[in-house]
Amino acid sequence: MATERSYYEILGVERAASYAEIKRAFRKLAQQWHPDVSDEAGSAEKFKEINEAYQVLSDPKRRQIYDVVGTAGLGDLGGAGSPFGEGFAGFGDLFDAFFSGMGGAAAGARHGRRQSGSDLRYDLRITFDEAVRGIDKEVEFDLLDRCTTCGGSGAALGSEPVPCTTCGGRGEVRSVRQTMLGQMVNVTACPRCNGEGRVVDKPCTACRGEGRSQRHKSLRVTIPAGIDEGHQIRLSGEGEAGPRDGPAGNLYVAVHVTPHQKLRRDGTEIFYDLNLSIAQAALGTRVRIPTIEGDEDLEVRAGTQPGTEIRLRGRGVPHLRRPGSRGDLHVTVRVTVPTKLSKKQRQLLEELAAEWGEPVLSGGILDRVKDALG
Ligand code: ZN
Repeated sequence: MATERSYYEILGVERAASYAEIKRAFRKLAQQWHPDVSDEAGSAEKFKEINEAYQVLSDPKRRQIYDVVGTAGLGDLGGAGSPFGEGFAGFGDLFDAFFSGMGGAAAGARHGRRQSGSDLRYDLRITFDEAVRGIDKEVEFDLLDRCTTCGGSGAALGSEPVPCTTCGGRGEVRSVRQTMLGQMVNVTACPRCNGEGRVVDKPCTACRGEGRSQRHKSLRVTIPAGIDEGHQIRLSGEGEAGPRDGPAGNLYVAVHVTPHQKLRRDGTEIFYDLNLSIAQAALGTRVRIPTIEGDEDLEVRAGTQPGTEIRLRGRGVPHLRRPGSRGDLHVTVRVTVPTKLSKKQRQLLEELAAEWGEPVLSGGILDRVKDALG
């Protein structure tokens, strides 16, 4: 079983729906589709789908994971597919099933396939700190949105789209031909309603019957703590509106993170190269290092070797899929060798070398040139 609709679409709720709304939508659908009460074909499958959607969306943690990476983040619960950029093709039977529950003459007529709106992509740049801590961001863009005059139906005020008489509202027409090989049945999209099953007799003047029009939209997007460069946040149904009440596409917010000046990040792990002098490494020291929480003191033991890693556990980036746990901060000690020495420094180092009994090149370049000329 691989659903191509989002959990929000399955429950028929807005992406920003509250827990109460989700619960209400689930109850309503469960009453309709529970195998014990429904004898429609495929009701067990439908109920399973509805239940799966509810299990995820009613749990704040799992809902957050799902919002960011889709079903791939939910282990065995979700369907297969890449964590990002899942395609959400047109609505199928279940969508129609939602509307059949709403009663009225329209239900029977809605067998046609309604065209979906396009998915949209929004590139959002955030800082290193914002990615680590999480933040709410306002995004603004222009899109084809549901027409506010006709409510998206495309029909003029006071009128409604009517079932297409050419195809009887099915959206497809069959033609039967007699051939030498026998009867051939040809099924094509209805040319009159373009397969939608309904036609607009009196088009809305605001949108010319399209059911959607250009609009400026502003949305608040919750960026969860731990998001990384290249991640996409999917906002179901926040993309372009479909023509004439067709389902809306999704909005994908592609996140770009500006790197930190001093800290390097790899997933949940943070890396920092700490440069020490020979004296500091040999004698031990206390230094200031940058961390996610700001600069702080770090004690380095005497005799610390180059390449030593000091690991500060739990001081990295929060796990996106395991809320409450964080990666580590890895401080790697680099020992720098001075390339320029004052006369005093050179003298002290030469004395040190003599104390250790180590042969060194003594004196500056001029001294050595003099020695060579000897
Ligand atoms: Zn309109």
